[in-house]
Amino acid sequence: MYQGKSIRMIPLADGFAELSFDRQGDAINKLDSLTMTEFGEAIRLIAGAKDLRGLLITSAKDAFIVGADITEFSALFQRDAAAIAAVVSARTRMLSTLEDLHIPTVVVINGAALGGGLEIALCGSLRIMSSQAQIGLPEVKLGLFPGYGGTVRLPRITGPATALEWITTGKTVSATAALDAGAVDEVAEPADLRARALALLAVAAKGEIDWAVRQHVKRGPVTISANELDALIEQHQAKARALRAKHQPAAAMALDLMRAAIHEPRDSALQLESEAFGNVAKTQAASSLVQIFLNEQTVKKIGKTRTKGSRPLQGGAVLGAGIMGGGIAYTSALSGVPVLMKDIAQSQLDLGMGEARKQLAKQVKSGRKTEAAAATVLNGIHPTLEYNGFHNVDIVIEAVVENLQVKHKVLCELEQASSPGTIIASNTSSLRIDHIAAALQRPGEFVGMHFFNPVPVMPLVEVIQGSYTTPEAVATAVNYCIKMGKTPIVVKDCPGFLVNRVLTAYIRGFLQLVIDGADFRQVDRVMEAFGWPMGPAYLEDVVGLDTGSHVCDVISAGYSERMPPIANDALRLLAINKRHGQKNGVGFYRYESDPNGKPRRSDCEDTHTLLAALQPNGKREFTDDEIVDRMMVPLVLEAIRALEEGVVGCPAELDMALILGIGFPAYLGGALKYADWLGAQELVSRADALTGLGPLYEPTDTLRKMSLSGQSFYKP
Ligand code: NAD
Repeated sequence: MYQGKSIRMIPLADGFAELSFDRQGDAINKLDSLTMTEFGEAIRLIAGAKDLRGLLITSAKDAFIVGADITEFSALFQRDAAAIAAVVSARTRMLSTLEDLHIPTVVVINGAALGGGLEIALCGSLRIMSSQAQIGLPEVKLGLFPGYGGTVRLPRITGPATALEWITTGKTVSATAALDAGAVDEVAEPADLRARALALLAVAAKGEIDWAVRQHVKRGPVTISANELDALIEQHQAKARALRAKHQPAAAMALDLMRAAIHEPRDSALQLESEAFGNVAKTQAASSLVQIFLNEQTVKKIGKTRTKGSRPLQGGAVLGAGIMGGGIAYTSALSGVPVLMKDIAQSQLDLGMGEARKQLAKQVKSGRKTEAAAATVLNGIHPTLEYNGFHNVDIVIEAVVENLQVKHKVLCELEQASSPGTIIASNTSSLRIDHIAAALQRPGEFVGMHFFNPVPVMPLVEVIQGSYTTPEAVATAVNYCIKMGKTPIVVKDCPGFLVNRVLTAYIRGFLQLVIDGADFRQVDRVMEAFGWPMGPAYLEDVVGLDTGSHVCDVISAGYSERMPPIANDALRLLAINKRHGQKNGVGFYRYESDPNGKPRRSDCEDTHTLLAALQPNGKREFTDDEIVDRMMVPLVLEAIRALEEGVVGCPAELDMALILGIGFPAYLGGALKYADWLGAQELVSRADALTGLGPLYEPTDTLRKMSLSGQSFYKP
């Protein structure tokens, strides 16, 4: 009946037909432009086929339809809101043709039906779902809301409470939950799904289910009183606010839209949805979150390619059972790679094992692991004071104290104790890989693996390629990260690598603000309101002011022209005064344990007295915008320099490293995405306005050229 590249339609017995999504040459079905065009053609054919009795809509893939093709969003979202609205409106009207067919339609949700996939399913007269499938409208996670009728059709099927909940949270739900909510009519085991679907279609075609009335009801307004609706919306608004949705307005915009559209008949409600979608697509959050999604795919692909030539990873080892070594050993065992964990102190080994036990107990308690599985993980960590067994492992990660002499000594011992070919990685946070490699006999097998604290939680690992590091060593390190469920980003060996280097430019912006008279609490408030999980003073308190000050020193030494040492900066001053931050109860702020043992921050008057000594001109008021620019401009410019120097391969890797490594605000998408949002011209003009603050605020020549040519870091 119809054969396209995404859709096939065949006649079935008894006057029925089957429309099957089956994208050629792809493992999944998604709603790209081609699929939408073919779908429109197929539905028009059905609408004209007067002798048909019913239509079955199926997927030939494991998932039903995973959603829209997000790679097409960037180009679409370049257009103005009205043009975007026109595109989605045409597609939504086409889906209404399916909803308005003269025959019953049964949608067979055999696997995930997400976003546009579910929106198509909602047009059917009846839905049957595999017990193993999941459905949901996750658009809000991309800074959007459903644009193919989801905000209109779901409340008409499930009632507004469920629809508001699903749309504002973006959650995916199981078959049981979908059935309970009334989003699907039946749930079947996968083996029975097709037979049950055909039976349902036959019953509907005989008129034993009043499908036509159900479709008619979907064309009217939702029945809910204004008061009930207000109460529901208010409840969800509170949730949206609690999620710090200030910079991610999609959920709030969806609520406004649904409030306006719910009492309208379907077609005008759909029109409102299309218009609102045009607006949400133009928000900074949507642009950034879509870019992050694409960047995740890019980074995954690069990572996979980078594993080529890796050693097999049958066993690993960690030197040092401290905060980092313990975390790495635990994460390795958790991912199924057994690991030797060596320390020089039994007490540290006990501490490392104790931490692993604690983590596993939590997993057992929450039901994520059985006792037996937890025991297997624990048995995968072999604590030792000796080098026995080290000649049998594929990779060793060194995580001993941050001291070049100690690392040289330990790594030379390790070279003796391990076999040639074993990859040796250092988790150094501030030493150069080449400087460590200088003492080694096999520098080619040496690579950096910079994990972040706490290791089990933090997703990023910077894999540092020194001048001698072989591709095999990089491949093995990258492979190990991926096995551990981490995101590796390969960077060149430079002071601070990528993340700490870029972060330090930002912290220097903060230190200068304090010297120029800013109140650090205001800076924290402003940067938190701007979207950072914590302001810079609070962040340094959490990192530890001694550590933070050391990182600044290392980076100053590495980039002395641009980031010369600051004679008496706030981090150093506080560290000298033995105020190390959260770990000893006082830094910029004071910390006391709350009843749950969590540190509670409070103001500390002495800090202001201490810092006054750094402020030659006393206190000064800064506007919020000044603070943001003085902090963000150096960060963005340093990121641009790192990209230009080839420290990292592409904008996607750079931005993902910042998102995953330092909690860079997601709605900005990363430093380079933020630069693109501002535009090179605007960024240069903001930097030029701050040029008196030193060379850290000086745009690169390339950026100046981009500002003239209108170029961007990402393809528009
Ligand atoms: P830590 O002090 O908690 O642990 C260091 C461990 O190394 C101690 O258990 C110590 O007994 C052990 N050790 C010392 N000499 C040893 C030797 N010869 N053989 C075996 N073990 C030995 O330190 P940490 O915070 O885990 O840091 C370790 C490394 O990780 C450092 O290079 C640090 O810069 C880096 N790092 C730390 C963090 C962090 O936030 N803590 C983050 C990223 C990277």
